[in-house]
Amino acid sequence: MRAKRVIDAHMHHGLEKEAIDRFGNKGNAEVWWTGSQKLMKIDVIGGATDAQEGEFNWTNGVRRRVGAKWGEIPDYKAEHIIESMDEGRVTQGVLCGIDGVFTVGLGKRQRSWEWKVTPEYTKHLMDRFPGRFLGEVGVYPPRGEKEAMRELERGINEFGCCGMKIFTPTGFRANDPRAYPLYEKCIELGVHATIHTNAEACIGSRMSACTPFHIDDVANDFPDLHIHMLHMAVYLGMEMQALACLTHAPNMYTSCDPLGVPIDSVYPMSWVKRPDLFRVMEKIFPRRLMYGTDFPISYPHRESIEAIEGMDLSEEFRNLLFCDNARRFYKIK
Ligand SMILES: [Zn+2]
Repeated sequence: MRAKRVIDAHMHHGLEKEAIDRFGNKGNAEVWWTGSQKLMKIDVIGGATDAQEGEFNWTNGVRRRVGAKWGEIPDYKAEHIIESMDEGRVTQGVLCGIDGVFTVGLGKRQRSWEWKVTPEYTKHLMDRFPGRFLGEVGVYPPRGEKEAMRELERGINEFGCCGMKIFTPTGFRANDPRAYPLYEKCIELGVHATIHTNAEACIGSRMSACTPFHIDDVANDFPDLHIHMLHMAVYLGMEMQALACLTHAPNMYTSCDPLGVPIDSVYPMSWVKRPDLFRVMEKIFPRRLMYGTDFPISYPHRESIEAIEGMDLSEEFRNLLFCDNARRFYKIK
């Protein structure tokens, strides 16, 4: 049985050529396209290098261009995102803005790299494709209390974002006191906080910062805050911790991702191999699991949607998972 309507609660932008040329998202784009971050190249993407210069399509695009030289990246456009959504009957997607700095090594040997996708660019895509995208503003509290607060406020008030994204793989823990004024502000502004839990392949990722229990502190300290706990910590093997957190935090939602290519071949515990986990959620928290792809980590949409549709789940739960839970959480009509 096909889902009536699909909303993707977790997508990424900023890899489009335009984002790099006009909005300066080079940090992350460099990781993705040129494979200069070895871990991304080898462990996640596969490292093939034989695509035609300047071309892009979903079968030879994302994976094969890794290893390209800077300046040779393909003409990947926002239209490709829409194409994948249309093919999967995805009416809306939530674009995660990102802000964070990763470090490796100590002292003189320390290297760092920044991943930033700005709310300016998020708004640009929301305006260009009316009604198709919602946006979250990425906020990195170590930049300083004032600067982080300014970024949150301008993201929501100036650029029309509907929530804040905290990217914990940088080593920043969700229960760090520096984030607390931001959570208070989210409640005041009536917006949610999306917080990462999970393994993360980017070089410098700090797994100890990505466990669900840090979010549990936040949920207890801010019972009115609406929280999207990304990934449900499945690739850390901490899904039971995540379930424990959901048990006593009624305002906390989570999402099942990624599914499909290319990630499911890499991580042994991918959601696509865990119909048991879908059934647990169907039984215990049917109204708090959303469909999210981490696009373009998982693409195209059609594949992951068909994988879930093929599972032994009730029609009622499938509609909640694909659409109604995200509509409730993100206040989508
Ligand atoms: Zn993500």
